[in-house]
Amino acid sequence: MKAIVYQGHKNLSYTDVPDPTIQSPSDAVVKIEKTAICGSDLHLYHGPSRNEEFTLGHEFLGTIEDVGNDVKRFKKGERVLVSCTIGCGSCVLCDNHLYTGCEINTATGPVTNVFGSKLNPGGQAEAVRVPFADTNIFKIPENVTDEQALFLTDILPTGYMGADMAEVSPGDTVVVIGCGPVGVFAQLSALMRGAATVIAVDLDDGRLEKARLRGCRPLNPSKEDLQTVARELTGGRGADCSIEAVGNPATVQQAIDVVRHGGRVAVIGVLMGKEVPIDFMATLTGKNITLRSGIVNPQYYIPKLLPMIEQGRIDPTEIITHRMSLSEGVRGYEIFDNHEQDVLKVVMTP
Ligand SMILES: [Zn+2]
Ligand SMILES: [Zn+2]
Repeated sequence: MKAIVYQGHKNLSYTDVPDPTIQSPSDAVVKIEKTAICGSDLHLYHGPSRNEEFTLGHEFLGTIEDVGNDVKRFKKGERVLVSCTIGCGSCVLCDNHLYTGCEINTATGPVTNVFGSKLNPGGQAEAVRVPFADTNIFKIPENVTDEQALFLTDILPTGYMGADMAEVSPGDTVVVIGCGPVGVFAQLSALMRGAATVIAVDLDDGRLEKARLRGCRPLNPSKEDLQTVARELTGGRGADCSIEAVGNPATVQQAIDVVRHGGRVAVIGVLMGKEVPIDFMATLTGKNITLRSGIVNPQYYIPKLLPMIEQGRIDPTEIITHRMSLSEGVRGYEIFDNHEQDVLKVVMTP
């Protein structure tokens, strides 16, 4: 079959790879119908060249093609989406909805349980093997389209997790730093949870105009001071909570500084290899601030968010800017990486 294969630093190709097969009785093989390029794929794309080749992609859905003998919840032909991280479903951490720390999957090293690696070839391909199918696969209801379901695999749960970790509550003033795909979903999630005001922060005025249309208070920090605006909106206190969806040490500090005494801060941006110097006493301890971060467990959030899509409370397709065939995917990476054509999200069809 064909797949987008990582071959080194900024070196991808659309090429032939072996067809996936059932290797364990709890596996399923899924024929891919839709797959997306994620911001975290770009970390691999830009990262130091690794001396290995593997199929990329951790955001994908499709149709069950084959199941192992132990798979109870799925059968051939069903339309399904797949969690980007893989949990066994039966260890202590999986029992606590911490599939990202699955004790079976992480046994061979850190973060080995995300699709798109040597160990778990990804879904930017015509098909994929899914370990522990009963835990990591979810049926797509008839009234939900593939494009509506696709972002449940990673970035919609990630955005919602930001609002969850920041404990966004009715009436809150919430700051979301970043209007990329994850930031958009954090904004929508904050609104769904009853925030009175969501201040959407970005340097791109086009993205800010879209934020305004979805009900946010747009703010370009090159034109307005975030802290001043947040205080003006809250009687001088500061925001109730903030969500950092960029992955930059400076914006993490802004997210901390913008909240009130007792505020909650969630960092969902990916700070790959970047240290964040924090003056704990002055900015956290002294202000009784809660700071949280984590990798998403879609298996926990998918059953909560799918009904929101079914009932039309949230339309994840608004972020899609580019649709192309998987064979054009290497060019899709270039467009996404170079921020060409106002790209926000690239979706590919094999
Ligand atoms: Zn992703
Ligand atoms: Zn586990």
